[in-house]
Amino acid sequence: MESQIVILGSGTCVPSLLRNPSSFLMRTREENLLFDCGAGVMRRLLEAGVSIFDISHLFLSHFHPDHIGELAAFLFALKYPKPSPQKRKLTIFAGTGFSRFFEKLKGVYGHWITLPPDRLAVVELDTAGYDHFDTPFFQVTSLPVAHRPESLAYRVEDAAGRVLVYSGDSDDCDNLIKIADHADMLVCEAAYPDGQKVDGHLIPSLAGRIARAAAVRCLVLTHFYPACDAVDIEKQCRSTYNGPIVLARDLMRLTL
Ligand SMILES: [Zn+2]
Ligand SMILES: [Zn+2]
Repeated sequence: MESQIVILGSGTCVPSLLRNPSSFLMRTREENLLFDCGAGVMRRLLEAGVSIFDISHLFLSHFHPDHIGELAAFLFALKYPKPSPQKRKLTIFAGTGFSRFFEKLKGVYGHWITLPPDRLAVVELDTAGYDHFDTPFFQVTSLPVAHRPESLAYRVEDAAGRVLVYSGDSDDCDNLIKIADHADMLVCEAAYPDGQKVDGHLIPSLAGRIARAAAVRCLVLTHFYPACDAVDIEKQCRSTYNGPIVLARDLMRLTL
């Protein structure tokens, strides 16, 4: 069975009625993989028809609030009602330093966000290089990217051998080309338009150059600051990439 992608947020920290902070869902077999957890993600999941209790894996790209800001509320919400309708354990994946970050968060919220080990696990991935995690239904590879010391890009191969890669937030870097190698779909940030590049982020022509260098089959651009909605992002990306380009919109559904 093909894996399905639902864009939950195609935006940034800037409040927007159209674009939530960057996040998406990957449904593969019985597993529901959530990528990033910024403000409004639980509401978008409801709009997508998915309960928070159905999320089996949460992949955090880095600790900026637009990617992690709803984590405490998400865990708090998992505690109610009792007995819990949570069908499976939630495993959170994040880069080096997450355990410390999470302990500090628990220092603030205490038992409100503490779940027993049979309901929540944390996997801290290495940000020195490649790291891997295998499950019966998919395989995950991570590699650090150029944004924050804890920043990771994720490569997920489903049971059918289809590959999805998520850049997280990243500037131009060779690791993004390496991890995206021959991916079926690259969900890649293009935070600002060409001509308005900001350190730590990509622009459409650079995202296209990475997708071309990695021979990516389909490029999904996301994480759009408001300036992106005033220009032709696809045309800017087309200057460097010939394959299919999708401009993410909230609640857009894609097949991997
Ligand atoms: Zn960021
Ligand atoms: Zn961001």
